[in-house]
Amino acid sequence: MKKLVFATNNQHKVDEIRYLLGSVCDICSLADLDFTGDIPENQTALEGNALEKARFVYKKFGLPCFADDTGLEIDALGGEPGVFSARYAGEEKNSLSNIEKVLTKMHDIDNRRARFRCVIALIIDCNEHIFEGAISGEILRLPVGDFGFGYDSVFKADGYDVSFAQMTLAEKSKISHRGKALEKLMDFLKKSFPLQKKQ
Ligand code: IMP
Repeated sequence: MKKLVFATNNQHKVDEIRYLLGSVCDICSLADLDFTGDIPENQTALEGNALEKARFVYKKFGLPCFADDTGLEIDALGGEPGVFSARYAGEEKNSLSNIEKVLTKMHDIDNRRARFRCVIALIIDCNEHIFEGAISGEILRLPVGDFGFGYDSVFKADGYDVSFAQMTLAEKSKISHRGKALEKLMDFLKKSFPLQKKQ
């Protein structure tokens, strides 16, 4: 079975993606390749960052690989934090500080509309492919829930009355931005490449 490298150091994302793609192909994380360095992400859009990360890993390891870049886009903040979601409150990329910054900026704002957007860049046989997924919802006034990561505790998807951090991995993956982008990636892989596990 061929390996598909997921270009991330974020173990939460690896868990989510193994949960979704594990039956289709052998997901290999950067930790599995003993790579713990930083991957460059210097672009000003999610698509550019996802491509930059995937190209870096493809060049380094020569294996089929994909990378994702995700942003939380808040209407009342003009789309912030967007592509800067990871380092919104500083280079240390601290999720609690990022959440605190969002809640402080929004403390007297009634329009709580927001969406997570995820772009996945896949490089396979030197060809690049892009897949996208999004989920709309609102920013809560206080963090709630213990599951998940990043901004999960302050995001409530439309049609649900719990935050992403109150959902199990299975519940979140079914509706999330990354779940939707991965579904497209999975369809593509199933149709185009013989990566499936042998029965
Ligand atoms: P990146 O895609 O790793 O650059 O993520 C950007 C930022 O968004 C990081 O701060 C992540 O913690 C956050 N993030 C990415 N995906 C999710 C998610 O599914 N839920 C909550 N926060 C997320």
